[in-house]
Amino acid sequence: MAETEFDYDLFVIGGGSGGVRAARVAAGEHGARVGLAEHDRYGGTCVIRGCVPKKLMVFASEYAHVVDEANAYGWDHKAGGFDWSAFRGKLHSELDRLEGVYRNLLKSSGVDTFDARATLKDAHTVALSGGETKTAKHILIATGGHPVRPDLPNADLGIVSDDIFHLDELPKSMLIIGGGYIACEFACIMNGLGVEVTQYYRGAQILRGFDDEARGLVAESMRENGVDLHLGTNIVEMSLAADHKDGPMPTASDAAMGASAQQRRDIPGKSGAKGSRKGPIWVKSTNGTEKVFDMVMFATGRDPSSREMGLEDIGVSIGRRGEVVVNEYSQTGVPSIYAIGDVTNRVNLTPVAIREGMAFVQTVFAAEPTPVDHELIASAIFTQPEMGTVGMSEEEARDKEEVEIYCTSFRPMQTAFAGKPNRVLMKLVVSKKDRTVLGCHIVAPHAGELIQLAGIAVKAKLTKEQFDATCAVHPTMSEELVTMRNPMRTA
Ligand code: FAD
Repeated sequence: MAETEFDYDLFVIGGGSGGVRAARVAAGEHGARVGLAEHDRYGGTCVIRGCVPKKLMVFASEYAHVVDEANAYGWDHKAGGFDWSAFRGKLHSELDRLEGVYRNLLKSSGVDTFDARATLKDAHTVALSGGETKTAKHILIATGGHPVRPDLPNADLGIVSDDIFHLDELPKSMLIIGGGYIACEFACIMNGLGVEVTQYYRGAQILRGFDDEARGLVAESMRENGVDLHLGTNIVEMSLAADHKDGPMPTASDAAMGASAQQRRDIPGKSGAKGSRKGPIWVKSTNGTEKVFDMVMFATGRDPSSREMGLEDIGVSIGRRGEVVVNEYSQTGVPSIYAIGDVTNRVNLTPVAIREGMAFVQTVFAAEPTPVDHELIASAIFTQPEMGTVGMSEEEARDKEEVEIYCTSFRPMQTAFAGKPNRVLMKLVVSKKDRTVLGCHIVAPHAGELIQLAGIAVKAKLTKEQFDATCAVHPTMSEELVTMRNPMRTA
């Protein structure tokens, strides 16, 4: 087919972070004729059921302690309750507004949008669920990922992260299964909102792959804040409590009575409401306990959304986890088809999907082959306390070379004054050979904001001496990053 005979220069499948960016830059800045299909809501995971609604829930949950702390500083504030339905209404209005912004961005860039599911017919043809077909010189798959439940009878009784923004009421008790960042973030959020949270993770420590000391402090702080975290523990059976053959078991709320339950009930906003859409759920776990929770949430992983799109039929390779296999330019084995973002399962974060989208446009529409640099990407985990991290963990670095570890953990001024036990951690992993800072790990309030800046220095491969040459900003928590004189150990 001659170039001019294609309906479009580019057809994008998926209107999330990566797809929208690629479509509007290709159309708006390079004058390409672009079509885009989205079968759900524009903005994708990040805007509709990921980063944005989650961060707004993080903010909501963090206000739980504000009254306590303000009163310790001499204020006389009274705690009121948390109104989930009022918050949820505002949350969804904001998501509607953002979806409108995404639609308008595409429209104003001249992108044709199709509210349809797309599949591939051949290397240049997309079939839309409405029955139309569209041809394009290039096709970009930006279909993201989706949460998966474990292969367990009755697993559909549990919710997944997509559902949590739509609850009619907050549950009184909740079991969260998983130890990744989504599980930990929602454990902290729901705990902050006054839900009695139990978390089971089958591994030895949460947040696998991150620095051991940093994740150790996050786990300890989560427990101190009231999350009933069980490691080396998994779910083995579940059913509706009403259907359970041996009759109702003690609820997690009953089991939590006593001093700690009393402390939890003082948290403003304790809803005490029923939350499960399907009724209380009986759960048997590998540690032998049987408990009933108002709600169970699986945060047990996400798979790339690549199935039933006809990809393999036209020669696009799919990996073991369902990821679309691409080269450094995000190109699949079929030269006209590219893939970016979570569907490629490289680094599953919004800014990375956006960068991959920009690099694709640069490669294809500006004729400048541009690989995406996946090294030294800073990221944050919005637990309470937050964790910010960039570069290698101590464990990863010491397997590669000899390193010096500069680390300090202390009670920060603001909460120590209010009598809180909270601790923070500042840690640098430094190459003994050339003094480069190989990794920086922060566990502290606003660690996400801090690591964005530390990430510049680590990405620029600055040395420990260059960190130290930077005069401290005092009094701050992060001044420790430039004042740690002696290594705590070599490893
Ligand atoms: P998506 O944003 O998922 O977009 C894919 C789009 O394709 C979707 O809208 C989908 O409906 C559509 N689609 C799928 N198949 C088809 C089809 N066949 N036809 C038409 N349309 C289709 N990242 C961060 O950086 N920071 C965070 O704090 C963070 N928090 C998160 C919290 C949660 C709970 C979750 C689930 C994710 C979070 N992420 C976070 C990850 C981030 O949301 C993703 O990495 C990012 O959205 C990936 O963008 P994408 O363009 O690859 O896919």
